[in-house]
Amino acid sequence: MATRVEVVRFLKGQRSIHLYKNLQIALADVLSAMPDKNYRYLTKNLIVIALHKTALGQAMFFPKPKGEIKLIEFHYRKELPLNVLRYVAAHELGHLMYGQLMPKKDHTWQNLENWADDWAKKWGFPKTKKIKTKLARLR
Ligand SMILES: [Zn+2]
Repeated sequence: MATRVEVVRFLKGQRSIHLYKNLQIALADVLSAMPDKNYRYLTKNLIVIALHKTALGQAMFFPKPKGEIKLIEFHYRKELPLNVLRYVAAHELGHLMYGQLMPKKDHTWQNLENWADDWAKKWGFPKTKKIKTKLARLR
């Protein structure tokens, strides 16, 4: 597992989340909980984008990457409790573990959602009944 110091250093390099303390905490908790090889894979060329709900857009610059960029985007809501943020962060990172956004042959979108949840659960952030209820209320 990555050390908390490593994880915090990684997150400090993310330019879009500096205003969202709870999102930083949720990501730090999730990234610290996963096996080292998952952490290394996910944080290589990872860009985290966050926007609060009243923002319509955001312009950013990034240094020239080497290789493929992975990106996760959060529509940040202040009212979201930390356990929901942790689950969302773990679920989105779980999607990245699949290696591509579109379902591969013989896979469905639902497979992708289930596998993202499986990764989240494996790292210790399952989609509990409470979280499901909270997420349903947001829609
Ligand atoms: Zn998903």
